Amino acid sequence: MGAKSPGNLPSWVQTVHAMAAEPACHVRAICWTCDGHKDIDLQALAAKVDENYSLIDRRSPCRFTDGCEGWVRFMYLFGVYRHLESYERREIWAARDAGRNTDQRAIGQTRSTAC
Ligand SMILES: [Zn+2]
Repeated sequence: MGAKSPGNLPSWVQTVHAMAAEPACHVRAICWTCDGHKDIDLQALAAKVDENYSLIDRRSPCRFTDGCEGWVRFMYLFGVYRHLESYERREIWAARDAGRNTDQRAIGQTRSTAC
């Protein structure tokens, strides 16, 4: 059963410990709703979690801005920032968020037709 690791991500991002061992690796937590972000201290995080702990396919409620209902997602820097998530998980989140986004879009449409 070797199919557990997301195939679209390099081996050195699979766990926090692997990323901490890679001097060039930088990870950032980003909220796409309010644009809040912070760089993750991989050394400090690795000291707190077990060696199998992974940031892949994780997200957490935004705490950057009071009242923000967005999700914080993790990205790793490899030339540009790339998502720490599998294609499969991205589709699940997109489907799960679709209801909320549809509401926002409906409000936008009401506003634009009122102009
Ligand atoms: Zn936010």
